[in-house]
Amino acid sequence: MLDKPLVAITGASSGIGEATSRAFSAAGHPVLMMARRLRRMEEMGLPNSVCKRVDVRDRDQIAAAVMEAENKFGPVDMMFANAGIARLADIGRQPPDEWDEMIDINTKGVMNTVYSVMQGMIERRCGTLVMMSSIAGRKVYPDHTVYCGTKYFVHAVSESLREYLSEFDVRVLVLSPGVIETEVLSGVLDEKTLSEYKENKNKMGGGIGADIVGKLILNAYQLPQNALVQEICLTPTRQRY
Ligand code: NDP
Repeated sequence: MLDKPLVAITGASSGIGEATSRAFSAAGHPVLMMARRLRRMEEMGLPNSVCKRVDVRDRDQIAAAVMEAENKFGPVDMMFANAGIARLADIGRQPPDEWDEMIDINTKGVMNTVYSVMQGMIERRCGTLVMMSSIAGRKVYPDHTVYCGTKYFVHAVSESLREYLSEFDVRVLVLSPGVIETEVLSGVLDEKTLSEYKENKNKMGGGIGADIVGKLILNAYQLPQNALVQEICLTPTRQRY
């Protein structure tokens, strides 16, 4: 057993999840990394990591991965419910299949993720849930309709969970980033929305690095358990909206 507790991260195969896995690993934590692209996680070669092919839409897969990692490294002390997709599109043109995918991954996937560790945290009266929302979970954009809906869901659930879990000393932090440089735009299938997004991003000088997000989460996590950063809203300085 290591002296730092196990942390678990969904969507660890790229972007913010990858950067956060690296930050916690560098700080000495064993890390359970979950996503569908197993090889990407394995190739990172982080010490004391458990890499599991998990689709967050499958509650049993998450539970099995958590159990396997906990048997090796002890209880999960921080779960980052990060996995998500952004099928941004003008709602008038968007095929309903894209709503289904976003709703299943970004909302039900987050609930499945939280569910896998919440009871244990309550019993131990200790733990941290980091919930991935977005600036699109604080304000709406006309070509982000269903994506915004999923991120408002994460905000609402996080607020409710925070109130429910506070008496058990379990912390709930909701993260609301603006434009971060990751692979997230590969999920935007609508060409007009994609080109407009890129144009806007270029105007602000690009997004900021995912490593900044990973370090910020680590800093918030490292505060004493009785101190909670309830929300982090992090954007490029030049992001106006
Ligand atoms: P990436 O596309 O780089 O990462 C997304 C991650 O989610 C990947 O590891 C992917 O892994 C995983 N994922 C997607 N679907 C599933 C699934 N069904 N089951 C398991 N894992 C899944 O983008 P980001 O790092 O940017 O995205 C991470 C989160 O950050 C998302 O929730 C996104 O909405 C949010 N966000 C991003 C912002 C940005 O500007 N980048 C801004 C605000 C919020 P795999 O495909 O291997 O399964």
